[in-house]
This record gives sequence, structure tokens and C-alpha cells, in this order.
Amino acid sequence: MITVIDSIIQTQLFERRTKLEHALVDLGDNKELKRLLQEVDTALERIKNGDFGLCEVCRSEIEPDRLMANPLTKFCLGDLTVSQQQELQRDLEMASLIQKSLLPKENINLTGWNVSYKYQPLGLVSGDYCDLININNGNNGNSGNNGEFYFVLGDVSGKGVAASMLMTQLHAMFRSFISLDLPLVQIVERVSSIFCESTMPMHFATLVCGKVSKDSEVEICNAGHLPPLLIQENKLIDIQATGLPVGMFCNEVFSSTKFNLLPNDTLLLFTDGLTEAENRFGDEYGKDRLTNLLFEHCLDSLDTLINFIIKDLNHFQSGNNLADDLTLMALRRIC
Ligand SMILES: [Zn+2]
Repeated sequence: MITVIDSIIQTQLFERRTKLEHALVDLGDNKELKRLLQEVDTALERIKNGDFGLCEVCRSEIEPDRLMANPLTKFCLGDLTVSQQQELQRDLEMASLIQKSLLPKENINLTGWNVSYKYQPLGLVSGDYCDLININNGNNGNSGNNGEFYFVLGDVSGKGVAASMLMTQLHAMFRSFISLDLPLVQIVERVSSIFCESTMPMHFATLVCGKVSKDSEVEICNAGHLPPLLIQENKLIDIQATGLPVGMFCNEVFSSTKFNLLPNDTLLLFTDGLTEAENRFGDEYGKDRLTNLLFEHCLDSLDTLINFIIKDLNHFQSGNNLADDLTLMALRRIC
């Protein structure tokens, strides 16, 4: 029987086949294109026969992430040759470097604001998205600004290479739409619509996109993500979700919440890699523990605050490894 994933991959393979055929007409008798066409046909044949996605050596299922990233994959990780494993490792290391280069620069200069973040992939690459966009020069904020900027923190469904590819897609889309100076909810709606149309149905992302205005008003659109925590005048305020995750439906409508940050208020955004991290007894780190830390360290610098959270998480886990990508971003108005 053809599964939903098989049928999505089948459609992609038919598209690739058509493109290859056109390229063959344009380029004439090209050996490499013919080999690729042969591989696509073999994969299509295997979908028809019901043995697509099985390793050619051990017949066990190939890791779904790898199969989705490359439907022509024929072997499970365990049955790659040493040189294939080395090649894969090199690819991953290159992908990791590219992903790091997409992160906002450290020591960002945003007039009137301090921002600090921690981006910790589980493996070499991450499905988390973390970004700061200075409206005035569109770069990572190092040339200063007039107090207006955007921040985004998100979590793509799944982990590993497939999730990291989708994360880079989000990065490109947010940067493009923000440069058009659209209203915040329209930016998220357009991102959601394109993400939905261009990815497979099981792929979506939860995220928080925020815009800081010159008058220190913060507008937040929360697409199904964990509520950011705001410590304001020694009180905790949850900024609740205002929509479903992006990419779940192609015509999703979002709304936003606006609030003002006073000097020394601290806003913390994080992915579930933090609050859902478990110790060896299966207990979750949880929001309460995080909130207590926030109150304790709300007068410390943001770097110090984030370091305390990471230290406390490691202490809580006491040797248990993280099971997910982890990202935190803290923002504070300083004047
Ligand atoms: Zn195998």
C-alpha cells in the first residue's frame, strides 16, 4: 500500500523526472542526467512495488528525515560505507557552519535595548529559528538603529537536517517580508501560507514574531508557540498564543498582542527544549522553575540570566542528556 509520505515523495519524484527530461532535451546526451533519471525511475518503481524506503542491505526502514531530505537514499545510516559516512559528516559540518552564519551577531547594538540569546542545537544542526532584524539597515543590527527592530524565535517540527532546512526557509521568508514593512500579522500570515504550500503536510513551525517600536511598544504574534514570559514590576505576565503554528493550513489568519515594556522589564522567549527537558526520573524542567529563576535574576545582565538558566538546567538534568534543540532569547528595555 502507498503511504501518505510515499505519495508526497512520488509527486516530487514525478516533478523531478519532468525537469530531468526537459534538461536532457536541452543538453543532449548527458551521462549524469541519464544516471539521475535512472535513479528517479528506480525510486518510483520501488514506491509502486511497496518496498520504497527500505535499506538495500538490511531491509530495515531508512531514517525518515534522511529519506525526505533525499528520496533517492538507498541505505540506512548503519549500512553506509566509511567513505559515505565521512562524506555525510562533512556535509553536516558544512550545514552547521551555514546555520551558525544565519544567527544574529553577538553584542547587537539596538538603541535603548539589551538582547541576548543562546542557540544550542542537539546535533550539528538545529530546527530552532532565532533572529533579530534591524528595520533600518536590514542587517544583524550592528550599525545601530532608531529603536525599532523585529525578533523571532521558533521551532520547526522534527529535528535534524530536514528541520534545519525548513529553519533556513523561515529565515529567508521573514527577512524578505520584514523588509517590505508589512503589518506584523500579515508577515506571519504570508510566511505561513508559503511554508504550507512549499512543505509536506507534517511540517509546521511554532514561533513568536515580535516588533519593537520607537516608543517601546512591543507587538507580538504568537503562532502556537510557548507563551513568552514577561517580568514587569516584579509580576509575571504570560503572553498567550494568538494562533496555530505556521504552515499547518494554507489560509491561516493570525492576530497580535500589544504591550509596553518599561525600563528594566525582562521578556524571555524559549523553545520547548528548555521547559520540556527531562531529568532521569522523567520529571520536566517546567515553567515554574524557570519563572523562579527569572525573578531571582531579573536584576542581573541578560547574559548572566541566560547563563544561570543553562546552569540550572544542567544541574536539574544531572547527567541526563538533552533530547531536543534548545534556544532562549531575552530582551530588556534599558532606558
Ligand atoms: Zn541498513
